[in-house]
Amino acid sequence: MALKDYNKKRKFDETSEPKGKAKKSTNKLIFVIQRHAATRLHYDFRLEMEGVLKSWAVPKGPSLDPKDKRLAMMVEDHPYDYKDFEGNIPEGNYGAGQVEVWDSGTYEPLDETSKLSDEKELLKELHAGSLKFILHGKKLKGEFALVKMKNTEDNAWLLIKHKDEFAESPYDAEKNTSPKSLVTKFLEEKKSLKNDKKKS
Ligand code: MN
Repeated sequence: MALKDYNKKRKFDETSEPKGKAKKSTNKLIFVIQRHAATRLHYDFRLEMEGVLKSWAVPKGPSLDPKDKRLAMMVEDHPYDYKDFEGNIPEGNYGAGQVEVWDSGTYEPLDETSKLSDEKELLKELHAGSLKFILHGKKLKGEFALVKMKNTEDNAWLLIKHKDEFAESPYDAEKNTSPKSLVTKFLEEKKSLKNDKKKS
């Protein structure tokens, strides 16, 4: 019942987010990163595993700079269909705000020597708290690691770019966001609304 938490948190007669159902890619495993303006702006990093999207909220966004160790808080599994979700989550609902896909593509485990299937290898590493993989996205490419932090809250991980030909230093996810971004527009409208309230 990996999607129980996901379904419990949402009112599907109010939000247009997809209902939780497990489903798999027919070919390669996919990843998606959604930029999400909620109480705070963050990026949701999601990796397909076992028909669901394993999910981490990354407050500062992913980076291609190996020097950046980005805090990534593991959150509830999301349904596979969430990979295409974009739009508004109405006020009063969990995660209320605006969501857009920031990057997407396929991914695979880094360990070429493993005799396990790709998915089994990734699951093994996930449970061990050290996940190494290669992203084939439009923005994010190359080797990355997600490492569970020891001696902290049990859902805190770090997202780290490995040094390879795709590394870029410095890197700012916000600067690599489309100028037509609806999430940016949403944030600007929220800000001007706040300023208007201050004036009156
Ligand atoms: Mn989110």
